[in-house]
Amino acid sequence: MASSDWLDWRWQLRNRLKSPSELQLIATIDPALSTWLGTGAAFEVGITPYFASLFDHGNPDCPLLRQVLPSTEESSTQPHERADPLGEDPHRKVQGIVHKYPDRVLLLVTDTCAAYCRYCTRARWVASGQENLNSNQLDAAIAYIADHRDIVDVLVSGGDPLLLSSARLDSLLDRLAAIDHLRFIRIGTRVPVFLPMRVDAQLALALRPRRIPTYVNVHCNHYRELAEPTRQALATLADAGVPLGGQAVLLRGVNDNAMTLRDTFYAMLSARVRPYYLFHCDPVTGTDHLRTSVDQGLELMRQLIGFCSGMAVPKFCVDLEGGGKIPLWPDYLEASHDHVLQFRGFAGNAFDYDRGVRHANQV
Ligand SMILES: *Cc1c(COP(=O)(O)O)cnc(C)c1O
Repeated sequence: MASSDWLDWRWQLRNRLKSPSELQLIATIDPALSTWLGTGAAFEVGITPYFASLFDHGNPDCPLLRQVLPSTEESSTQPHERADPLGEDPHRKVQGIVHKYPDRVLLLVTDTCAAYCRYCTRARWVASGQENLNSNQLDAAIAYIADHRDIVDVLVSGGDPLLLSSARLDSLLDRLAAIDHLRFIRIGTRVPVFLPMRVDAQLALALRPRRIPTYVNVHCNHYRELAEPTRQALATLADAGVPLGGQAVLLRGVNDNAMTLRDTFYAMLSARVRPYYLFHCDPVTGTDHLRTSVDQGLELMRQLIGFCSGMAVPKFCVDLEGGGKIPLWPDYLEASHDHVLQFRGFAGNAFDYDRGVRHANQV
C-alpha cells in the first residue's frame, strides 16, 4: 500500500474488511460467527480500513467496533422486531420517495454506505444493490417533489448520498434547489466518520448554499469517532458554508452512559456540529443486544439537561411505526392543581408556581 492509497476514498471502499479472515485482523472471530457469516444470512458487512484504525485493538467491547462488527446475536430475533420497523415501505410513493410527514420527504438515492452499522433501520434493502436510483427513477422522484407544493424540505438519504460522485450530487442539488416551493435541503450521512477522505474541495463545492441551503446531518455515536481526519472533513464543509447537525443512536454498550453522551455532544460542538437528534434504537430484526430501554434513554436525558450546555442536548426521540418520531423529554412538571403548578428543577429543588400571582417559590 502506498501512503497515497490510504487517503484515496475509493481505495478505502475497495479494501473494506468483510470476510471472516479479514475481520480476524481486527477482532477475534469465533467459529460460530465464522460459520454464520458463511451462510450468507447476515446483513452486509463492510468496515473501512480507516474506521478500523480507530478501534481499541484487543478490546472486544470497543464502542466503535461494536457498531460495525457482526455478532451471532443478530441471528436471534425477538417477536416484536421487524424488517421495516418504521413502516416506511407503505409510504413509498414512487421509487426513492418516502412521504410520511405533511411538509417533508425522504429521498433515498442509493443503497450503498461506506460501512454498515449493525443496527441499520433499512437493513432490509441497504446494500442489496437493488435500490440505487437510475436516471429515470430519479427524474420521477424529483417530479413527485415538484408536483407536491406542500413539501418544503427534502431529506436526501439512503444508503449514504455522499458516496455519489460530486458531479452527480451537484446536479441533484441544482435540480432540487430549482423547485421553488422548497425552503431547504438536508443530507443524512456517515461518510465524514467512516470515510473522511471522501470530503474534498469538490464535494464541499457541490454542497454549497444555493438559492436554498443544504444542511448536512452527520451520524456519530461516540466522541472517538471525531478523530482528527473527521474533524478536518467537518471543517472543510463548515468553511464552505455548509451548516452541520449531528444525529446519534443510543446503543447499549456503545454510548449508554451520561459521560459518554456528554463528551460526544461536546465533541460535536467543538467540531462545529450542532447535536440535533438522539434516537432510541429502532426494533430492527436481530438488534436486541444493541438496544437500551426507553426509560434508560429518559434517565440519561435527565442526567444531561441542566448539567451540560443546552447547545449539547439533542432531542431524544423514539420512532414508532404509524406514529413517526415522538420526542421524549423528562417531566419537570410534577403536578398541576387548580391554583398551583409543582415543578422540580434539574438539581432537584422543588417549586410551587402560583397561577394567581404568576410566580414560583422554592419549597
Ligand atoms: C425522520 C424523518 C423525516 C425528518 O423528520 P424531522 O423530524 O423533520 O427531522 C422525514 N421523513 C421521514 C420518513 C423520516 O423518517
